[in-house]
Amino acid sequence: MEYAYQFFTGGFGADRDDRDAGAALVDLYRRMGPGDVIAGWRAPDGRYRVMAEIAHDAGRRLWLWLPVFSELPESSGAAPSVSYKNVLQKGLSGFPGEDFKFVCPSDKKNIAIAYELYARYFAKYDFDGVFLDKIRHASFAGGPENGLGCFCERCVAAYAERGVDARAAARLFEYDPAAFIPARVNDCAYRFEDAAADDFFRAKAGVVSEAVTSVVKMFSAIGLEAALDVFAPATAYFVGQDLGALGKIASFIKPMFYRVTRAPAGLTYELDALRAAYGPRADVIKALNKIWGTDDLCSDGAARSMLASLKNCGGVFRPGFEINVVKNICESSPGYAASSVSIIEDAGYDNAVLCWDLFGDTAASLRALSNTKGRL
Ligand SMILES: [Zn+2]
Repeated sequence: MEYAYQFFTGGFGADRDDRDAGAALVDLYRRMGPGDVIAGWRAPDGRYRVMAEIAHDAGRRLWLWLPVFSELPESSGAAPSVSYKNVLQKGLSGFPGEDFKFVCPSDKKNIAIAYELYARYFAKYDFDGVFLDKIRHASFAGGPENGLGCFCERCVAAYAERGVDARAAARLFEYDPAAFIPARVNDCAYRFEDAAADDFFRAKAGVVSEAVTSVVKMFSAIGLEAALDVFAPATAYFVGQDLGALGKIASFIKPMFYRVTRAPAGLTYELDALRAAYGPRADVIKALNKIWGTDDLCSDGAARSMLASLKNCGGVFRPGFEINVVKNICESSPGYAASSVSIIEDAGYDNAVLCWDLFGDTAASLRALSNTKGRL
């Protein structure tokens, strides 16, 4: 197993941070072996120079972790996302360095912001590619009415171009949420018995795939590859991430197998929000359990099932799991880290990403993984 190492340097405008990236990376390479490095998105930050040098000396790449439709600086002037109830998506509080305030994914100016941020803050560093995060609509975790995505005029028109009446779909969701329960999964995209729900979700994912294609093209025009951070297969399609379609345009994709994170993108957290948004009339979790052949979507068995399905999606997948402990948010443990690796390895993957902040409290898990590595 080769690992990639993800470091959260802080948000845009984060305070000065003197944690030693060079020492951390040298130590990781020594104990765990060399691998790609993903770091972002505090700027400016001289530590990117140190990381580039160490990664390049080892023949590995440095990826700039860059948010696309959330976590943008106020100065970007991004057009916000609007719910079907015509309320601005306000984001979430309580998560250091991130606000989960989503912007409209159809707006051409919004789509260009990631590239503009790169050009302004990061072009001077020796990054080999960008690792695009928040390439999605807001999830139900941002409030039940935001989980259907953006309903600004531009987005409603983008759905109409795909033959979908988005406002009618929102009314259907309120009136009959059970229509929005998936019936099966095909190549990591859910399919729905109800044709209106199926068309709506297809269009919702189409908006994201089209936007990501545009962003990736802007970077490839200047010789930078793009990799993507996405939800785990059980939840990705709900936020408009069609992993099969995205796999065709990315150098690699990191599905977040975050099974112990009680924060956005964490499976428990997102599934709880999904359950609440669908309400007691529509048991969406029961349907998902059936689709993935499990009674607990955070279990090892469910992870195996999702990893197997990714194999049919095309694209290069490097599953990611959390190894940093964050009190009350992420209760990672050495046992969880070791079992995550063995599940990923058993599923036939030879690359995994250690997430999401190797500046964090990772000592115990890293010890467990370096023991695993020695044994294998
Ligand atoms: Zn919009």
